[in-house]
Amino acid sequence: MSTFPETRWFKCEHCGEQFPVTTWVTLNSRLTPELYQDLLHGRLFNVTCPSCGVQQNRPYTMLLHDMTNKVLIHLDYFELGVFSVNPVTLLDMSHEVGMPGYRFRIVSEPEELIEKAMIFKAGLDDRVIQIIKDITSQHYSDEFDSIPKTYLHIDPDDSSNMRILFRGSVEKECVFTNEMYELGVSIFSPYFDDTYEDSLEVDREWSVRFQRGRGSCFSEDAGANKRKVAHLFLPKYIN
Ligand SMILES: [Zn+2]
Repeated sequence: MSTFPETRWFKCEHCGEQFPVTTWVTLNSRLTPELYQDLLHGRLFNVTCPSCGVQQNRPYTMLLHDMTNKVLIHLDYFELGVFSVNPVTLLDMSHEVGMPGYRFRIVSEPEELIEKAMIFKAGLDDRVIQIIKDITSQHYSDEFDSIPKTYLHIDPDDSSNMRILFRGSVEKECVFTNEMYELGVSIFSPYFDDTYEDSLEVDREWSVRFQRGRGSCFSEDAGANKRKVAHLFLPKYIN
């Protein structure tokens, strides 16, 4: 899949002016590396109103085709009044026409698209990271009133610089290291199910299912074991 543009009209959130913007239905990382870099640096969805000059972030539904790392990530972004191609249909088509060795993912927020794009670019397994994020955020939920949203931020210019961001009633960050990742790989990956259906949406729900089902590293005495595993990944807050 090549990079495929589509002109769409946006209404300025500031002054109400309507203006055309070139958006990307699909974005191929190798064929349009500059757009891929814009995505990784969080500026792909920035638009500037030609009337009042106010810049705003306006995400939309799109498909990232990372040819180098063989991954398709669909951002299924909800916009009022906008109906898009069913992402599952689109991914199913890709799956059925046979893209051997490919991984398929669906996300619903632009931050998750960037997170996953960086994870795959860095050669990491997003399932291991999802579990580590969830067991640490569950373990420390009392510091946030409720379980916070978590994102792994990888610096697009220096992939050894990794932090887990916790966003709840307060925001915190901790350093994420290769040692933590490798430990996660050794504990969790023997229990992964590599089928297409199981790994389409690797998110908190997926992780909860894993911890209750296949991930028998958690199951014997679930409470005690989960605490034990969580302690291996104690976050070192940096703010
Ligand atoms: Zn405006």
